[in-house]
Amino acid sequence: MGLFDQMSGYGHEQIVFVRDEAVGLKAIIAIHNTTLGPALGGSRFFNYATEEDALFDVLRLSKGMTLKNAAAGLALGGGKAVIIGDPAKLKSRDFFHTYGKFIQSLSGRYYTAEDVNVSADDVAMIEETCKYVVGTPNISGNPAPFTARGVYMGMKAGANAKFGSDSLKGKTVAVQGIGSVGRLLCEFLAKEGAALKVYDINKAAVDKVVADLGAVAVSSDEILTTDCDIFAPCAMGAVLNTENAGSLKCALIAGAANNVLLDANTGDALKKLDILYLPDYIVNAGGVINCGMEVTEGYNLDKINQRVDGIYDTTLKIVSLAKEKNISTYQAAEEYAWSIVKGHS
Ligand code: NAD
Repeated sequence: MGLFDQMSGYGHEQIVFVRDEAVGLKAIIAIHNTTLGPALGGSRFFNYATEEDALFDVLRLSKGMTLKNAAAGLALGGGKAVIIGDPAKLKSRDFFHTYGKFIQSLSGRYYTAEDVNVSADDVAMIEETCKYVVGTPNISGNPAPFTARGVYMGMKAGANAKFGSDSLKGKTVAVQGIGSVGRLLCEFLAKEGAALKVYDINKAAVDKVVADLGAVAVSSDEILTTDCDIFAPCAMGAVLNTENAGSLKCALIAGAANNVLLDANTGDALKKLDILYLPDYIVNAGGVINCGMEVTEGYNLDKINQRVDGIYDTTLKIVSLAKEKNISTYQAAEEYAWSIVKGHS
């Protein structure tokens, strides 16, 4: 398929290919939609097998940012960048300075932030040559605490819709992935009196949450099939599909991981199974709210926490919309986000 056909398939406005021989930089910046404001989305650094894989990833991720930013109530559009290559070999101050100059040349149509293999410290180096950067350590910094808080609030809203009360006391939550967000989510849940079942490929992270919070460790297979009230995917994407959805023994799904469902069909399958799925980009928007509000209103922690807590109401709106239209929550979230974008166009 031609490049312009792909752009029109996803609805992109602009794709920028950048390269610099001297520092070994190859990157693609995809600006999906700027109806609501400048595009915001992180820069992902990854050793893609092919350039086509990198393009596919950036097109998909940047479109996701349009939906996520709109649903989060941010006056921001969607964009994303991928840097192609081995981060361990390529990262240097010169590298990020060169990359920053390219983003600067877009004059604020695209704001970048951290993402996979691009840390807050890397972002601080980009900022040395570029104004259009958020998430630096001295301002909005680490997004994980805000993401965890938002997932927790979304989960409480989901519990309200599913169990008739937003209290998570006595509920059993199976958490897959005890990294930056998963660990903090476990802390919120333990504090409220939820029981935790946990799995992570990193045994040390599991041992710590077992010792600190009384979680029960389960195996890699069990985390998807164990008896629980809520499944919280906080590791990687595409963990649920039409094949394994039937083995879940939870009533509610709410987690931080992006693109949790393999596809829209999985959303339909979960609806048929009467499992309430809270769309990932609705409940995991705390991090982008934190850095996005740095662009739209200047950094104000109280306002940011208020907006992150608003994920509770947004989640309820999506659940009601799905019910009212008899569609999956996956589809309802898309309709909700697009209605906001279209309302401004
Ligand atoms: P992280 O890298 O700190 O943690 C991920 C954890 O998942 C690690 O502990 C890792 O060992 C574990 N893991 C990896 N593969 C696994 C597997 N197969 N089974 C079980 N555990 C596995 O990442 P994070 O910042 O906590 O983010 C978690 C997820 O949430 C990611 O998908 C991320 O894209 C998404 N997310 C994060 C943020 C944020 O603010 N950090 C915001 C939005 C979305």
